[in-house]
Amino acid sequence: MKDELKRELASIVGSDRATDKPEHLVAYSYDAYTEEHLPELVLFPESTEEVSKIMKVAFRESVPVTPRGAGTNLAGETIPVRGGVVLCLTRMDKILSIDEQNLIAIVQPGVINMDLQKAVEKLGLMYPPDPASWAAATIGGNVATNAGGPRTLKYGVTKDYLLGLTAVLANGDVLKTGGRTIKNVTGYNLTTLLCGSEGTLAVITEITVRLVAKPRATRTIRADFQSLDDCSDAVAEIMSAGIVPAALELMARYTINAVEKAFNLGLPTDVEGILLIEVHGYPETLETEVSRIEDILRGKDVTNMITAQDDAEAERLWLARRSAGPALMRVRPNHIVEDVTVPVSQLTTMIRKALEICHNHGLEVGVFAHAGDGNLHPCIVFDRRDEDEYKRVEAACEEMVHVAMALGGTLSGEHGIGLAKAPFLSLEMDEVALRVTKGIKDLFDPTGILNPGKFV
Ligand SMILES: Cc1cc2nc3c(=O)[nH]c(=O)nc-3n(C[C@H](O)[C@H](O)[C@H](O)COP(=O)(O)OP(=O)(O)OC[C@H]3O[C@@H](n4cnc5c(N)ncnc54)[C@H](O)[C@@H]3O)c2cc1C
Repeated sequence: MKDELKRELASIVGSDRATDKPEHLVAYSYDAYTEEHLPELVLFPESTEEVSKIMKVAFRESVPVTPRGAGTNLAGETIPVRGGVVLCLTRMDKILSIDEQNLIAIVQPGVINMDLQKAVEKLGLMYPPDPASWAAATIGGNVATNAGGPRTLKYGVTKDYLLGLTAVLANGDVLKTGGRTIKNVTGYNLTTLLCGSEGTLAVITEITVRLVAKPRATRTIRADFQSLDDCSDAVAEIMSAGIVPAALELMARYTINAVEKAFNLGLPTDVEGILLIEVHGYPETLETEVSRIEDILRGKDVTNMITAQDDAEAERLWLARRSAGPALMRVRPNHIVEDVTVPVSQLTTMIRKALEICHNHGLEVGVFAHAGDGNLHPCIVFDRRDEDEYKRVEAACEEMVHVAMALGGTLSGEHGIGLAKAPFLSLEMDEVALRVTKGIKDLFDPTGILNPGKFV
């Protein structure tokens, strides 16, 4: 990019919100995946108008633009593989309004998920989408990846709480979609179309989300299992007992050991699996559900069971699950968190296959899963500098994808496609689906400047 063009783009936001210093460019050349590529300029807009002006110049000059939130995605979605501009939305971090009467919040894209959750909880409300990265990930990033989380089982994913968006198209036009009502069938559902589009269709600059009442009571139970089969039998039995837990999370042995080694939380290191179960409801009915779950667990090969007696104890139990990713990331210099998802009945088969595949390739892997919805995260830890090891990692990931598809699953349950899953897209989308996808991309971004080199 020529210096003159950089200066023109920087002048839109001002020099304090633009940088091309090498040490800054490095910080925006990677995300939570393993690849990296330097951008040429990083801009931090603070309004839809600034984003629109930036896109108009980028469109005129055919400059690649990669939108970015907190950069926590695990699929290489924010790596600026064609250089150009990284458009970092983290300065647009205001909660614009919380409407308690209509259960709606309007936020800028850079609001951190946890900040929104805490703000609405103070008012007795809840914003259900809760990716484990909630303390860092932005709502804009959550929308662009259609993020899920442990509570998906009961409440659904980001798209289920999305009412409307303001977004800037590749040519700088400002698009408004949806509105403030829960029911809205006017025209094509452009809001949902943009949700999960990974920055390839538009830059999201304002988000209207639906809130729900905070559950009156919650209970968290942890159960430690000698056998993985018993662990998944318990999952199946709980699900078929007419109980819909808010969360049903599983950690397998290698992950438990990594968490314990890194954070010393008092987890048992000799068990095959741990289940973490959270139920939400009214105090009057919740105890019946908790007892039913405890009965199911007692009927299995459970070595220990803890039912949290208060919020602080529940938070301590959850800390172990939230620490799974960060703990595994400490084991070796690099990691890839797979995201294949299978029908719940195939979960144990998929876990065993993932362990077997990694074992056959001589790789270390920690498995954790949103067990209730079949979303599995085998996290392979390795050293990217070892080319032979990295080739084995790639081969293992490819094999896992094929197994998941053969079991009736999907490439990605929540992390997205980015660079990681792009080579496998045609396993799940046929020629017609790919053609329609390309047509949508051409309509929104005819010259292909938005997050180029990714899945479209
Ligand atoms: C420890 C850990 C745990 C995680 N747990 C979960 C989990 O439980 N569930 C889950 O779904 N994910 C999880 N993730 C993945 C990641 O946190 C999510 O994908 C999250 O939604 C990304 O948000 P972000 O702000 O970091 O976005 P980024 O990583 O910055 O961007 C992600 C994508 O969104 C696009 N984008 C970002 N902002 C905008 C915008 N304003 N307009 C248009 N496009 C935009 C980017 O171009 C990119 O394609 C986890 C990651 C880590 C590191």
